[in-house]
Amino acid sequence: MSNLNQLDIQSLLAGYEKKQFTVSEVAESCLKIIGEKNAKLNALLEISSEKVMKRAKELDGQGSSSGKLKLYGVPIAIKDNFLVKGWQCTAGSKILEGYRSPYTATSVKRLEEAGALIIGKANCDEFAMGSSNENSAYGPCRNPWDLERVPGGSSGGSAAAVAASMCPAALGTDTGGSIRQPASLCGLVGVKPSYGRVSRYGIVSYASSLDQVGPLSQTVWDSARVLEVMSGFDPHDATTSKMAVPDFTQSLRETSLSQVTLGIAPAWLEGVDSDVKKAFDASIDALKKSGAKIIEVDLPRTRYSLSVYYLIAPSEASSNLARFDGVHYGFRAKDFTDSETLYRLSRGQGFGKEVKLRIMLGTYALSAGYYDAFYLKATQVRRLIQQDFEDAHKKCDAVLVPTSPSTAFKLGEKSDDPLKMYLSDIFTLPVNLAGLPGISVPCGLDQQGLPIGLQMIGRPFDEAKLLQIAKSHEQIHGVLKRP
Ligand code: GLN
Repeated sequence: MSNLNQLDIQSLLAGYEKKQFTVSEVAESCLKIIGEKNAKLNALLEISSEKVMKRAKELDGQGSSSGKLKLYGVPIAIKDNFLVKGWQCTAGSKILEGYRSPYTATSVKRLEEAGALIIGKANCDEFAMGSSNENSAYGPCRNPWDLERVPGGSSGGSAAAVAASMCPAALGTDTGGSIRQPASLCGLVGVKPSYGRVSRYGIVSYASSLDQVGPLSQTVWDSARVLEVMSGFDPHDATTSKMAVPDFTQSLRETSLSQVTLGIAPAWLEGVDSDVKKAFDASIDALKKSGAKIIEVDLPRTRYSLSVYYLIAPSEASSNLARFDGVHYGFRAKDFTDSETLYRLSRGQGFGKEVKLRIMLGTYALSAGYYDAFYLKATQVRRLIQQDFEDAHKKCDAVLVPTSPSTAFKLGEKSDDPLKMYLSDIFTLPVNLAGLPGISVPCGLDQQGLPIGLQMIGRPFDEAKLLQIAKSHEQIHGVLKRP
């Protein structure tokens, strides 16, 4: 069988079951396309045919038990801010150049225990700060739909790898939109689970009260499968929930929309590109025709999300990134004379521009005299944003909004203007602030043929319902073909 790299997870598992191909054959097919496409796309920062083929052969040896393993022989790319033992972990930063992971993140470990095959480490914005992947110290990643355009960020490499059929799924992290926005710009499904659903142990912390791990894939079923494998309590992460993890793929069998109420917030949609708005409206109409009840909801305080996020996230980042000092990890500047210059030079030369900007912002917001006015105030407004969603979710099962106000933009188009860039996440940030699950699903193409994403925002820990609604939408629209 040719083009094994193009199969989604569900088809791969079915093929293994029928012994139509081996894991080694699938791995070779993925590596071949990576070899052909990665130089242009720069989606993967570390590729190791040796590690991949060794693991593939191991999995082939376990073939008889394959049915029990939920991700048997499934190639998955991992964003380069996850630790995976033996692989590099740069978080897209020069300060971690050459750093090798001493252990494996819980989420990735669970994937491996379920039989997954790690195919490579994916490019990302430095320390996951960005919306275009242009902040990577290892060069930008490009969008497989149009090489002149960005794949979104910060999990741009993860999205580009899946969209380019290098693998059927990838892991990303989402602090303010970094899974959903690139999924939207690359025509994929991307899930940010509820805060506490998936362990953060072994990921490079950006803003600890917002960071979550999640999947990107071509179909809803595939994301559901990856999510159910990696979710659940982890003794290594005190913020993970002990709540039971439903069998998400099983629950996709019930997808009737007749009992479903969906909320839209018209006031929120101002400033959205007209093609995006059109596709959004068409999706709402289609869901309505299929039986969903559509109501209007009001989320008055979400308009403060950008300000709140850009106080909380940099504040937490400035504290988390204090550990990169040239002593403990990675890059150390030369020519230092004492410990003070060692820190200053290593951080000065190791961090990129955007990261420095955020550290300065965060340090300022946390400093004595400003803490109450900025950081504390932001956490109070955050609570109000959460309240808005609580109120909305009393009336509807999910709130629907475009994932991003525009489709993929050109490289360089927003990189000189931080505010313009920050605005790409206007619809995703509030979801992290409220700790809710959010999913982006493809809902059409704009006039240039670029994918548009629809975001659904669910109740806390009700990923099952959210995935069901997403699946219904996919049944109406069909699965978007990769470019
Ligand atoms: N673009 C946002 C930021 O730069 C969100 C990034 C993310 O979710 N990691 O902070």
